[in-house]
Amino acid sequence: MILAIDGPAGAGKSTVAKQLARELGLTFLDTGAMYRAVTWIALERGVDVHDEAACAAVARSMRIDFDDQGRVRVDGRPGEPRIRAEDVTAAVSHVAAHPAVRRVVVPMQREEARRRGGVVAEGRDVGSVVFPAADFKFYLDASPEVRAERRARELGRPDLYGEILLAMRERDRLDTTRADSPLVRADDAFLVDSDALDAAGVVRAMLLCVRARARA
Ligand code: C5P
Repeated sequence: MILAIDGPAGAGKSTVAKQLARELGLTFLDTGAMYRAVTWIALERGVDVHDEAACAAVARSMRIDFDDQGRVRVDGRPGEPRIRAEDVTAAVSHVAAHPAVRRVVVPMQREEARRRGGVVAEGRDVGSVVFPAADFKFYLDASPEVRAERRARELGRPDLYGEILLAMRERDRLDTTRADSPLVRADDAFLVDSDALDAAGVVRAMLLCVRARARA
C-alpha cells in the first residue's frame, strides 16, 4: 500500500507520516530528506546550486538510503542533523527545482517503495508525480503563520518567528512556481487543513479515510 502526503514546508507532514506508518505497519519515506542530502553534498563539494548539470552529477555520484528509523544516509554516513541546517534549508529548493536532479532522485524513491513493499511517503509531488497511483493521497495544508509559529516553538526560539515566516514563504514560492513537479494538490487528494488540528487529530482524520475505504 502507498500513502502519499504532500503539502508546504512545516505543515507537519513528517510527524503525521511517521505516526501513520506506525499505525498501518508501513515504512515512512521522507522524500525531502533525499533532496536535502543532495544539497548537503553539493555544498560540501563547493558546487553551485544553480548549476543543474553539476547538481545532477552530485546526485548520480551518491548512494542514498535510509536506516531502520527512516533517517537518510549518504554512502553510509548519517544525514541528520546536517541536512536540517540552515544553509541546506535555504539552498534545497534551488537544487530540487532542477529537472535533471529529479530524474535521478524520483527513480530512487520509487525503488525504495518497491523494496519496502509499502510506504507512507511525504513531500511535494509524491501524490502528483512520484506515486500517481497511490492508494491514498492527502494534501496537508496550514497557513504560513501557523506553520512558522509551530516551527519557532519546536526550535524553542519564538524570537525567530518573523525570520522563519519569511524563509518559509520563500521556499513555498520556489516549490509552487517551479516548472517541473511543482507543489500542487492532486485532483484526487483529500485536503486536510491542520490550522485547527494537532498532529494526533490529523492522523485520526487520515486513518478514518483509510479505514472507511477498507470497510467499503
Ligand atoms: O520536506 P522538506 O522540507 O524536508 O523538503 C525540502 C525541500 O525539498 C522542499 O522545500 C522542496 O524544495 C524539495 N522537495 C521536493 N519534492 C519532494 C520533497 C521535497 O521538491 N517530494
